[in-house]
Amino acid sequence: THPVEGRLEGQLREQLNGAESHTAAPALSVVVPIYNEVESLPRLIEAIASTLQASGMDYEIVCVDDGSKDGSTALLKQLAQQRTDLRAVLLRRNYGQTAAMAAGFNHARGAVIVTLDGDLQNDPADIPMLVAKLNEGYDLVSGWRKHRQDAALTRLLPSKIANALIGSVTGVKLHDYGCSLKAYRTEVVEDMNLYGELHRFLPALAYIEGARITEVPVRHHARQFGKSKYGLGRTVRVVMDLFTIAFMKKFLTRPMHVFGLWGLVLMGTSTLVGLYLGFLKFVRGQDIGDRPLLILAVVLFLAGVQLFCFGLLAELLMRTYHESQGRPIYRVREVAGPGSSPPLRQP
Ligand code: UDP
Ligand code: MG
Repeated sequence: THPVEGRLEGQLREQLNGAESHTAAPALSVVVPIYNEVESLPRLIEAIASTLQASGMDYEIVCVDDGSKDGSTALLKQLAQQRTDLRAVLLRRNYGQTAAMAAGFNHARGAVIVTLDGDLQNDPADIPMLVAKLNEGYDLVSGWRKHRQDAALTRLLPSKIANALIGSVTGVKLHDYGCSLKAYRTEVVEDMNLYGELHRFLPALAYIEGARITEVPVRHHARQFGKSKYGLGRTVRVVMDLFTIAFMKKFLTRPMHVFGLWGLVLMGTSTLVGLYLGFLKFVRGQDIGDRPLLILAVVLFLAGVQLFCFGLLAELLMRTYHESQGRPIYRVREVAGPGSSPPLRQP
């Protein structure tokens, strides 16, 4: 269905299920992915609630438990049953942060969505400021951790490089793509097919769809409890996703322009190498049998390019697969708390 129709349908359904959900759709949904954050949870919920109550905003909190193993699941369910402002979406297993966020988007009922991390590294006190900025006429406001409290070598440096790369490839220059604290108009995220690590590319994906995007500095704190779920491996995955996005943006409509061009370049290069070797053999009278390195370099180059192209094709196939099959990237075990009627949007 059309998104607006879907929303209305959802509201109607809620009215019919009145006993189960006593709240109308709030203005703001705060979406938080949770994976093993049991120590931070009570403080986090309290901090979000007190900020938003103080600012007089009509809000709901949607926490998505991404298959935690440390008791976050039970605690979240209990909190959601006690509070009127918290809905807990419990996933069947760990699907990753992107899937958890997608689940949160689909269960959110507000016209505006704010996302943040569950480990208190983002400061809930920044939420009203982000929403105010959004209301100045943007579709997406991204937080910028100007004074980021993470390890310099393993986190800050790779992310600096990644931000520069993403910026130059997508044309959306943000200082801090990786910051989870962001505000969106709901229509910006509701039709996105997210998978892998794509949540961090939301500004770029939204921009391709014509969204107005800006960035504001936000606070950032060192992790107090638990550990980060990520290491350097994520940077590699992010760079791979980057290539896919660049490819989608520039070449999706004319794949032949890419592969054809590379084919020509390869044919040209190998012809030149062949001519050079022919020159050595026939003009200089040298034996080219003693030039294995040259051949090896050529073969490796060819193989590398082919692998790269196959990687892109595989990514495209995967995307097509995700989008055509409609295979969900997460599955919900249970929804607890107010408004636990069916979500507005399916995975
Ligand atoms: N997270 C998740 N599923 C995962 C990994 C992480 O929902 O598989 C959540 C995690 O609980 C946190 C957010 O995603 O709320 C960001 O994770 P983390 O703080 O470990 O990342 P970092 O801040 O180190 O980049
Ligand atoms: Mg963190």
